[in-house]
Amino acid sequence: MKKELIFLGPPACGKGTQTNRLSEYLGFPHIDTGSLLRAEIASGSEEGQTAKSFIDKGQLVPIELVARIIAKKLAGEDCKNGYVLDGFPRSLEQAEELEAINKQVDGDSPVSFKAIYFDIDTQILLERIIYRQSCPVCGEIYNKKFKPSKVENICDKCNVELKTRADDNAETAKARFDTYFEQTAPLVKFYQDKGVLYKIDANGSIDEVWERLLAVVNS
Ligand code: AMP
Repeated sequence: MKKELIFLGPPACGKGTQTNRLSEYLGFPHIDTGSLLRAEIASGSEEGQTAKSFIDKGQLVPIELVARIIAKKLAGEDCKNGYVLDGFPRSLEQAEELEAINKQVDGDSPVSFKAIYFDIDTQILLERIIYRQSCPVCGEIYNKKFKPSKVENICDKCNVELKTRADDNAETAKARFDTYFEQTAPLVKFYQDKGVLYKIDANGSIDEVWERLLAVVNS
């Protein structure tokens, strides 16, 4: 049966690292709205310019823009056995939009839909964001304080200069947490009420969280 996996959790809760690994493990596409929007900005398109003005403020990009990108991806042939969707939905309105998109793509075929919630102690997350760096080539995520590269600012694997996301500054990060608690956190109850919420403890090492994630995905 097709596996539709979506992920909830506050900024920097470790979803990106785990969902990247999960998509490789399952052989399903990793659809990450934040990265898709950053690619749109890098392309210099008008939509990218619009997205940037919201991302820089830590706010949600308008639903029309994100939904168009997601609908196209989810209808792709590569999603026919399943997908790993990271960063969408991020509001109740988007959750309803996702239901409509899935219905359109799947029709009456049975699917296994799981909303996996990364439950984590939020105090440490701001520091995870402010010190975060990533490799523009392989996507590996580092942290200047908690997981530094062997040579400062250089990827251990690719030997290229690490990048810091424009929205990973203290001011924007704080706004992203406000947006998360106001608009995204209510989705936990939304999916719980539907009986499709799976909560995992996201405190701990990458490998510990991975084991917990696999247990839920394979359940
Ligand atoms: P992320 O890479 O997931 O931390 O997302 C970075 C930024 O992209 C967010 O702070 C939002 O401004 C924007 N963004 C990502 N996903 C969505 C979404 N589903 N809806 C609206 N905006 C989004």
